[in-house]
Amino acid sequence: MRIIKTKTYEELSLAAANIIRSVIILNPFAVVGLATGSTPIGTYKKLIEWYNKKEIDFKNISTINLDEYVGINYDDKRSYHHFMEENLFDKININKENTFIPNGMANDLKNECEKYDNIINSKVRIDLQLLGIGENGHIGFNEPSDEFIYDTHIVDLTLDTINANKRFFDDESEVPKRAITMGIGPIVNSNIPLLLASGKNKSDAIEMMVKGQISSKCPASILGLNKNTIVIVDEEAGSKI
Ligand code: PGA
Repeated sequence: MRIIKTKTYEELSLAAANIIRSVIILNPFAVVGLATGSTPIGTYKKLIEWYNKKEIDFKNISTINLDEYVGINYDDKRSYHHFMEENLFDKININKENTFIPNGMANDLKNECEKYDNIINSKVRIDLQLLGIGENGHIGFNEPSDEFIYDTHIVDLTLDTINANKRFFDDESEVPKRAITMGIGPIVNSNIPLLLASGKNKSDAIEMMVKGQISSKCPASILGLNKNTIVIVDEEAGSKI
């Protein structure tokens, strides 16, 4: 695991965007795993800035997102579908047919999980998987539990995660309690897992991930098994390592 410490969130975003740009330059047909949340927004802004200056071309890449809420329509402002359109897809020349996000409104969620795994498995591999980290050590919505779950699955969100997500909803009762998430398998087997963490509230999770044992109680710890893993932390998130 390589750890890059930056002073600020802006530097973190620049470093992450540079790594993503390199992957796309090396392979214009790259499969890039993407993440939602506050952390990658700065990275996406940089990529959009470079696209506007014609310094990066997204025409041939495919993207696979980590997760989506169950029960939130894709056109709802709070859905991860909407997040991706607003923060990246609508602002670059990506072919939307090559962007994949699980459907949390599917009638048959078990079937949707299988469909999503088939999409993932149809790719040779994920060249780079962008990740945030939850305060509880989750990656995607792989929450702390008694076991690592390899494939796409439906997850009951933990209280920590529901509390952290409250900020995006007017009323606490509206915060989804379930989500559909890519499993641990494709994340840890991606060619480059790239995890970003910013802010003091992430310092315990980063400490647990970097210094602790590999354990399903801290799902991010499994990234220690992939020698290509890159973790970028700003000063606050990295204050305990
Ligand atoms: P955040 O979420 O980027 O909004 O902090 C990260 C996560 O929960 O994975």
